[in-house]
Amino acid sequence: MEVGRLRAFVDGRWAAIREEVRAQIRASELLRPVDGLSIEDYRARVLEQARMVSQTKSARLFFPREYGGEGDMGGALTAFETIALVDLSLLVKVGVQYGLFGGVIRRLGTERHHQRYLRAAMTMELPGCFAMTETGHGSDVQSIRTTATYDASREAFVIHTPDDDARKDYIGNAARDGRMAAVFAQLITGGDGRGVHVFLVPIRDERGRPCAGVRIEDCGLKGGLNGVDNGRLWFDQVRVPRDALLDRFGTVARDGAYSSPIANETRRFFTMLGTLVSGRVSVAGAGLSATKLAMTIAIRYGLMRRQFRAAGADQEVIILDYLQHQRRLLPALATTYAMHFAQEGLVESLHKAADGDSANESEQRQLETLAAGLKAVSTWHTTQTIQTCREACGGAGYLSLNRLTELKADTDVFTTFEGDNTVLLQLVAKGLLTNFRDEFGSMDTVGLVRYVADQVVGAVLERTAARSLAQWIADLMPGSEEEANLLDRRYHLYLLAWREKHVLEAAARRLKKLMANGGDAFTAFNAVQDHLLLAARAHVDRVVLEYFAAAVDRCGDPEVKALLSQVCDLYVLALLERDRAWFLEHGQLSAARAKAIITNVNRLCRELRPHARLLVDAFGIPEELLRDLVKSPDPALPLARRVTTRWEDGPRSWGPS
Ligand SMILES: Cc1cc2nc3c(=O)[nH]c(=O)nc-3n(C[C@H](O)[C@H](O)[C@H](O)COP(=O)(O)OP(=O)(O)OC[C@H]3O[C@@H](n4cnc5c(N)ncnc54)[C@H](O)[C@@H]3O)c2cc1C
Repeated sequence: MEVGRLRAFVDGRWAAIREEVRAQIRASELLRPVDGLSIEDYRARVLEQARMVSQTKSARLFFPREYGGEGDMGGALTAFETIALVDLSLLVKVGVQYGLFGGVIRRLGTERHHQRYLRAAMTMELPGCFAMTETGHGSDVQSIRTTATYDASREAFVIHTPDDDARKDYIGNAARDGRMAAVFAQLITGGDGRGVHVFLVPIRDERGRPCAGVRIEDCGLKGGLNGVDNGRLWFDQVRVPRDALLDRFGTVARDGAYSSPIANETRRFFTMLGTLVSGRVSVAGAGLSATKLAMTIAIRYGLMRRQFRAAGADQEVIILDYLQHQRRLLPALATTYAMHFAQEGLVESLHKAADGDSANESEQRQLETLAAGLKAVSTWHTTQTIQTCREACGGAGYLSLNRLTELKADTDVFTTFEGDNTVLLQLVAKGLLTNFRDEFGSMDTVGLVRYVADQVVGAVLERTAARSLAQWIADLMPGSEEEANLLDRRYHLYLLAWREKHVLEAAARRLKKLMANGGDAFTAFNAVQDHLLLAARAHVDRVVLEYFAAAVDRCGDPEVKALLSQVCDLYVLALLERDRAWFLEHGQLSAARAKAIITNVNRLCRELRPHARLLVDAFGIPEELLRDLVKSPDPALPLARRVTTRWEDGPRSWGPS
């Protein structure tokens, strides 16, 4: 099959934008990976690259038309995903500038903030930071301790860092380039705390010197992403005018009177954070790009590299012809495809929901929950897969030149920033337990437990997402295991939906029981935390399969469709193989069926092996970004080379002698 056919489908709705960014990468020396730069030179290069991006359509896509942008959220996320192939420091640098700094002004600010700052954020005339995290509080943003106290006599807010625990930490763009920071702080007016709000605070003057009262420190060398200047910020009674408050969800009048369209403080807080969902989606997309790049390197290398000679063969064996090499790489490749189509679906939804800001609160919550769940599962897949790819390239994979060590180091923290994955999965569980109803927004964890406990069991189950799965499961359910074909997509969906429903209901029951026995809400929650995380994970696995299955269904090219269907089979069977203990324990798989799954994973690996090169080429990684390791594949190897060794004979004489 010609790769263009598969790529056209994989590139999807924003194919033209992907192609445009690929062309920019091919055309520009500045957008090539370079090794061995000092931190300072690396930061300077990344800044130069970011400035170059700011002159292109990629930057404009994210911003509204009224301020010189193109208002195309799906296009913007796709462009960022493609830029990530160049260098993840560049992706994070532009992500902080547009997605976080520009994004928070756009989402939490009002028209005067938009008019004053959006264009300058887009062109990078005003390099900005997103200063939320503090040394003492990362995941628990609601407990940050920087204060913004309103002084009515001077119509100003006083931004203050009470101690070192409350300094802003890890802030991208702070150590070197940022001139303004969107600072998250506890708003205090008239002596009353109003919860976390965001303030635009200048941190450097035109000449790059820290502003009065602002102290800045460099975080120094990191485990990766060293082209980004992460820093710490302290504020010593820094005054900013009243309109420095981004006041879409809470405003302060001249006299200090506070008003907000959202009365409940927790709900207001989650609404504010929820509008920043695009950053999370962007991180998942960038992680996937890194995974695709790593897979391309490892598969191509696997097709070139030979080790050990089979008895009687005139050539050594191509390593991708070893079953175990296929097993390491091909299920990971299938999962990368699955994540790709799920990510594509999420980007579509975000694009549709008026740029991620849906009018319907329940829909908005569902979107945020999906973004949180996919970010977690996808970035864990990234971390695992890049390590696998490194190992699959042996010693060559460990040379910086070949990019895998860089990808590993740079994506490592994707599981932590833009929301720690474990914390994000708890958000997913909360959404599932409340079925995204109105109560969702105003509940913290303890509130969630009380909510579940306050209802009779039937009502709890009625209100969880499990209930809406029930009918669906009944429709999909095979009469018996024997009747179910192991390759039937409906059977796959049934198994994953059944697990999700079962785990969710069991977690709700346990919570309720613990509370009925007089437990306190936190202890009850903590006792079932692992169960809640499993429910979230089961939910994401089911949703990802749905997206993949839907992509296969809508594919109009029969040959592409057949290939993707096989890839989807491998994705789901490898998942069932991984989790077969659970399905066996819960009577959903017999021992014989569990063994049949293993046999089928082996079979699919063998059958997809001839298509491995095609499947990675469809990701469209520009050759300019690949290094010598895999740049010139052995011309003697046709794309769909057949395995020449007789596998039935098993490994005989090609072990080390
Ligand atoms: C390179 C880099 C760049 C960053 N850029 C920015 C930036 O530009 N702006 C910004 O504001 N922030 C930034 N951050 C901060 C980042 O968002 C935080 O590191 C992240 O939110 C996690 O917070 P934490 O580091 O305090 O970890 P913690 O929240 O302390 O988590 C530590 C561990 O505890 C676990 N944990 C926490 N709570 C729970 C719980 N309830 N249940 C179970 N386990 C739990 C977590 O899973 C984790 O394993 C950046 C961080 C890094 C490393």
